[in-house]
Amino acid sequence: MSKEITIAIDGWSSCGKSTLAKALAKELDYIYVDTGAMYRGVALYAMRQNWISRNHSDVNRIIAALPKIKIKFSNKGGGEADLCLNGENVEKEIRTIEVSNVVSLISRIKEVRDYLVKQQRILGIGGGVVMDGRDIGSVVFPLAELKLFVTADPEIRAQRRYDELIAKGDKVTLDEVRANLQARDEMDSNREESPLIQTEDAIVLDNSNLTPAEQLEKALALVNKIRKV
Ligand code: C5P
Repeated sequence: MSKEITIAIDGWSSCGKSTLAKALAKELDYIYVDTGAMYRGVALYAMRQNWISRNHSDVNRIIAALPKIKIKFSNKGGGEADLCLNGENVEKEIRTIEVSNVVSLISRIKEVRDYLVKQQRILGIGGGVVMDGRDIGSVVFPLAELKLFVTADPEIRAQRRYDELIAKGDKVTLDEVRANLQARDEMDSNREESPLIQTEDAIVLDNSNLTPAEQLEKALALVNKIRKV
């Protein structure tokens, strides 16, 4: 029998991490945890209270409210799950450019990270999990059997995210999306708390010229090698 492992996927914004993570979870019948969605959930809560905007964040209020911010996933099967915020399905709301524009201000708050990392570790207990984010291989599961650092050309990433948002009916421009990805990558990799880093033991997967199926094939080959050991 092959063993159930923990797969940690980190990388830049919109680099295809979640596409890969979902496909792996489906293929392996593993749990998929989208940690970015959890930070987006907290950001949406703070936005609704008017505690955060692009140039202001009421950090103390956000920290004090954390025990009241219940983040859960409702599993749809096949590697798909919707984010629920205090019982409300907010999967659509957390993906807007407005949330993307403030989420890195939320994720740099130590108390927010501590609160969510604790939950992420519980979700991953026992292995058989694919988790994606920025600090999964470095902080959440430093002992993960497989760590992938996913990357892609910045212009390709911006175009992919733009196409995705337009297909959903969002009114955005490519310039706006490009600027958001740049700003988030900058903040996420330079913050004090658990910045995005490529750990020494992570395997780099550049998918600039790969289809999702090719990307999955490469990752599965790595998984199978480990599971057979
Ligand atoms: O993955 P996604 O782009 O949805 O993540 C949204 C934001 O959440 C990131 O830009 C980052 O600020 C934050 N994040 C994080 N640590 C994680 C996952 C996401 O700081 N593990």
